[in-house]
Amino acid sequence: MILCSTCASVHRGLPQQTSQIKSFSEKASVADLLLLKALGNTAANNVLEGTIITSVERLRGSKIRDNYDLQAKSQFIEAKYVKKQFAEDFDTSSGTTVDAALMTAIANSDISSVLSLLANGADVNAHCPGVVEEDTPLHQAIVSNFIIGAHFLIINGANVNANNDKVGH
Ligand SMILES: [Zn+2]
Repeated sequence: MILCSTCASVHRGLPQQTSQIKSFSEKASVADLLLLKALGNTAANNVLEGTIITSVERLRGSKIRDNYDLQAKSQFIEAKYVKKQFAEDFDTSSGTTVDAALMTAIANSDISSVLSLLANGADVNAHCPGVVEEDTPLHQAIVSNFIIGAHFLIINGANVNANNDKVGH
């Protein structure tokens, strides 16, 4: 997401697993920019503000406005990014677990669903039982040639050294 400097300063105070703020002029890598292109503000807000019903309401109601004070902005940002308070809850009626759904979203190169599932507590390092191997989402991303997804998983804490061999080599 692209943020204004005020919101960026609030994000810098959040835990690193929640927010990693980079300036365009300094730390943003090519992978960061490609991720930003794939998952920009609109797509990310559709997930993280999924329960704030309409775009009108987003602008006029629950969503913060420019003229809100810093405390109000901070409270909104914490609710949105740390507590994931406005994200839609994962639908468990299908019988699928959130971790299995993450593997499917990765296999489908569906970055919005990946964000939604992470917001619902999917484990980036879960091993999904397979016929031969027990892949993690990162293995699946590589197999699926979903490089932006792999980058997104890594910045969300995926272990790049995870083993997928059932016999433990
Ligand atoms: Zn802002």
